Amino acid sequence: MALRFALMIDPLAADETTPDLSTTFTAVDPAAPALTVGELSTQRGDGIFESIGVVGGHPQEVEAHLERLVHSARLCDLPEPNVAQWRAAVAVAASECGDGEGVVKLILSRGVEHGPTPTAWATAATAGDFTDARTQGIRVVTLDRGYAIDAPARAPWLLLGAKTLSYAVNMAALREAHRRDADDAVFLSSDGFVLEAPTASLILQRGDTFVTPAPNGGILHGTTQLSLFEHLASRGFETAYETIPVDDLRRADAAWLVSSVRLAAPIRQLDGVALNVDAAFTASLNDYLLSPRD
Ligand code: PLP
Repeated sequence: MALRFALMIDPLAADETTPDLSTTFTAVDPAAPALTVGELSTQRGDGIFESIGVVGGHPQEVEAHLERLVHSARLCDLPEPNVAQWRAAVAVAASECGDGEGVVKLILSRGVEHGPTPTAWATAATAGDFTDARTQGIRVVTLDRGYAIDAPARAPWLLLGAKTLSYAVNMAALREAHRRDADDAVFLSSDGFVLEAPTASLILQRGDTFVTPAPNGGILHGTTQLSLFEHLASRGFETAYETIPVDDLRRADAAWLVSSVRLAAPIRQLDGVALNVDAAFTASLNDYLLSPRD
């Protein structure tokens, strides 16, 4: 991913209006230092973010991402984001992504230690090439997430439904997957239910029904999964949120990891055992995901 553009945002209060939102943005050199050493995002990973896929300059599912940004801010006791301001920042950043696939990142941090306001910025980058993952599929291993399916209700301070900047654990899980000769991981709750991947949601197929883990089980509610469920329903398929035992994943007719930038990656191997990949059907899902979506 090559960073092309960065925008520092002077965050407005949620209900504040201004005639020209562009006066609240400052474009900065994406290769130059822009944060102070007291930043709590860098010291503690204390903040939230969104990664928005951009196709041909069009940012995908912006409202769903902004809704999740607001949701994450609430869970983390951060000041409520001004949605109009962030929407305008997305438009500016997306226009810098170039012609192909790109990614706009939005970051809202708790700010500088003892400082008065949060720090906010947006970046635009070209996306990596995910053709192989989308067409050939990926090998996945299951990894223990270390908490039970009811952990979010008992321990909301784990911030399990928020997209926080604290991704060190997710990255460690990916490295463990690579050590086990796989491309990605699916987290399992300690009581044996499937959750999500370190950077993607899981969808599995049972006949004409598509199922995903219920978001109250300590996972992020994925915007790509939401968008695909709408699309699948429009094609006449059933969709459902369930608490899914790992054996259901092993018995699935097919399964995908889905996310905003890689899009739908079919799982071709689970814990060393081959899983069916329907290449034509997966291509139809990715065609949809690459079409302009709002
Ligand atoms: N779950 C986790 C932990 C993620 O990090 C992501 C995306 O980065 C997702 C799910 C998928 O979310 P989305 O489809 O909105 O990209």
